[in-house]
Amino acid sequence: MIQVTGLTKRYGNKRGVEDITFHVDKGEIVGLLGPNGAGKSTIMKMLTGCHMMTSGRIVINGCDMLEDPDQALRHVGFMPELPPLYLEMEVEEGVPKGERKAHVEGLLGLTGVGDVRGRPIGNLSKGYRQRVGLAQALVGDPKILILDEPTAGLDPRQITEVRDLLKHLSRDHTIIVSSHILAEIGQTCDRVVIISNGRLVAEDTMENLSRGQEEGNLFRLKAACNREELSAALGDIPSIEKIEGCGTDCGAGGDRRWFEITAPDTDEVRQAVSAALARHQIPLLELNSGRLSLEQVFLRLTDARTG
Ligand code: ADP
Repeated sequence: MIQVTGLTKRYGNKRGVEDITFHVDKGEIVGLLGPNGAGKSTIMKMLTGCHMMTSGRIVINGCDMLEDPDQALRHVGFMPELPPLYLEMEVEEGVPKGERKAHVEGLLGLTGVGDVRGRPIGNLSKGYRQRVGLAQALVGDPKILILDEPTAGLDPRQITEVRDLLKHLSRDHTIIVSSHILAEIGQTCDRVVIISNGRLVAEDTMENLSRGQEEGNLFRLKAACNREELSAALGDIPSIEKIEGCGTDCGAGGDRRWFEITAPDTDEVRQAVSAALARHQIPLLELNSGRLSLEQVFLRLTDARTG
């Protein structure tokens, strides 16, 4: 549905984005994620014909953006990060005249702005303005939606509402949605494209991303003992390569500690560890896998390549 190849944008001498390649299949929601200044808006503006690319290629629905921009953009709805709303207009007027009344009613209901339809847009909260921007992007029923930071500045309840709306829209739309906060959008997406410092650093499903970064030879445990006692207790387990203390649980009187065990993170090793601790009468308080959280994966991917 959307194919982006070698997309590059320079602002004068300054790099916007460089050599970005990804695709979006029909019906997918793809998240464009990265810290502020990574290049997400730059990509979205080129995808929607608002910015000229410096080089590269964008094909939407079989149409090359440079050869036939009108045709390529025919089915694309765009919500920029700051939707261009006329603040003195009332919500209902924000939708272009000539649109069918039933269509407009549908959009007001879908985006949840029906109850403020008569209010000037300038008087609305940020959450409602975002929704009016979304309603605007949906005018004409475009099959492809490109939404730049639709959750920015919203409170947690509004973020959940936007997520639900995206899920609803994804039934019959192809969607690219950006965010600088993985947790806000990630779980809603079929796949994510992670951008850092103008470059694509990862493109995968959320599940694969976290699996790919798994530290499979490490796990952590919290036990009421010191390092020497733990080493003595686990000394008989040959697959353990290293035991390291990683901080005291201060709130627990100093005798309950976290340790990092370097060994295959398998059920067998975990069983051997908990059995050994029980034999030595050392209370085992917690046992965690070394698996990184998705947030840690995101930070690692974007930190390593910035600056
Ligand atoms: P994001 O949307 O991920 O926050 P942007 O696409 O806005 O990132 O910005 C990417 C880079 O391009 C940043 O370094 C930014 O300063 C630069 N940039 C964006 N727009 C312009 C512009 N109109 N002129 C010059 N530099 C720009």
